[in-house]
Amino acid sequence: MARSVAVLGAGIVGISCALHLHRRGFEVTLVDRREPGSETSFGNSGVIGRASIAPLSQPAIWRKLPRYAANRDRAVRFGPGYPARELGWFVRFLANSRPGAFDANARHLNALLSHALGEHEALLAGDSGLLRRDGWLQLFRTEAGFEASAGSRALWYRHGVRFRILDREGLRELEPHLGPVFERAIWLTDIASVADPGEVCRRLADRFAAEGGTLLREEVRALRSVDGEARVALADRELHADATVVALGPWSADLVAPLGYRLPVIRERGYHLHLSPRHNEPLGRPCFDAEGAYVITPMRAGLRITTGIEFSAADAPPTPVQLESVLPLAREAFPFGAPAEPEPWLGARPGTPDSLPVIGRAPRHPNLWFAFGHASIGFALGPVTGRLIAEMVGGESPLLDPAPYSATRFRAFGLGR
Ligand SMILES: Cc1cc2nc3c(=O)[nH]c(=O)nc-3n(C[C@H](O)[C@H](O)[C@H](O)COP(=O)(O)OP(=O)(O)OC[C@H]3O[C@@H](n4cnc5c(N)ncnc54)[C@H](O)[C@@H]3O)c2cc1C
Repeated sequence: MARSVAVLGAGIVGISCALHLHRRGFEVTLVDRREPGSETSFGNSGVIGRASIAPLSQPAIWRKLPRYAANRDRAVRFGPGYPARELGWFVRFLANSRPGAFDANARHLNALLSHALGEHEALLAGDSGLLRRDGWLQLFRTEAGFEASAGSRALWYRHGVRFRILDREGLRELEPHLGPVFERAIWLTDIASVADPGEVCRRLADRFAAEGGTLLREEVRALRSVDGEARVALADRELHADATVVALGPWSADLVAPLGYRLPVIRERGYHLHLSPRHNEPLGRPCFDAEGAYVITPMRAGLRITTGIEFSAADAPPTPVQLESVLPLAREAFPFGAPAEPEPWLGARPGTPDSLPVIGRAPRHPNLWFAFGHASIGFALGPVTGRLIAEMVGGESPLLDPAPYSATRFRAFGLGR
């Protein structure tokens, strides 16, 4: 049984793993080259709950494919040559659109997401005022747009996700400052959100340190395989621990590849920009303009607009085309003033073809654990993943069946891309 654990990556996932492990008596070192929670876990929309139980690859995707492929849909954009470069990933992604695969993936997402809010509340105990429980709104500019949400609504019904359908008047009562461009809205009432995801991470990391955990500000240079064990190389030494958890978000797949794990986790890039309200008009909750393909979340730094997915190489320069195309629509939706910063933030969701994260023991290295690939729901799922990892490392019976999230599901493909 492991006594000491190195957790690599101090985003929401790594911090949550570290806290849960430490509270079970492990000696934990949490390693990051930056301040905790300053990458993807800082830049997201801050939504927590079961809004996103639909995997990205769904039966209806084939109808949207021609628009996506031609970069004519604001929700998705492809960098030059990118689909050809990651062909294996896209083929598997499309294979997951079969109704059977879609239903199974949605069930497995729902199993995780049903614990998201409860596990955030448990980790943030004492600080749970950081969580707003005002729900999340999906907005529709046309009846046709609303009709197109029928599949999502059916899925929510099936899984008991509570929501209310609002007409123009109902929406005006709930969010009086939204512009009169929306015909309908769906209010998912049990969803929570936060006004500063980076601050949530910092508070949890502070708690980990205050409770006696070790935070190490260093770069992980490589993972090496020695006699069937994974070893962690820092700049000038090896980091010794009985077990290692890889929670490096979008950087994870590259770090584990030299150990022979060519896992299909790619970077789904996304941008955010904060704008001020024109005259301090409040917005009560995160809003998703379904036809506009952007989210507005009220944040401490301003109203954060986040974009859809840009499939592009990690090292490609920022191309905030999606952000530029949604800004005029966002200005119709809400009385925005000036941007609060000169340049947009760019980050990446670590995405798998089945939209499920990779959680569990590495198939060929018993001392290595995977906790990454959380795509668009990783902020919500960090604490659930942290608990699952700690339970598995400690040999306890886990909160839920972890089998669907194991890296072994990629074995049929040689664990390859
Ligand atoms: C635009 C956008 C909107 C989103 N909206 C939501 C949302 O509303 N709700 C939701 O649940 N999720 C959302 N997400 C997804 C969510 O943000 C991510 O899934 C989640 O933050 C991933 O957390 P993580 O801890 O795995 O990765 P990260 O937060 O990226 O943490 C990884 C850490 O590893 C460190 N690291 C990397 N390489 C090394 C190295 N070699 N050595 C040392 N340290 C290293 C990094 O510094 C970083 O701190 C969104 C994502 C984006 C991009």
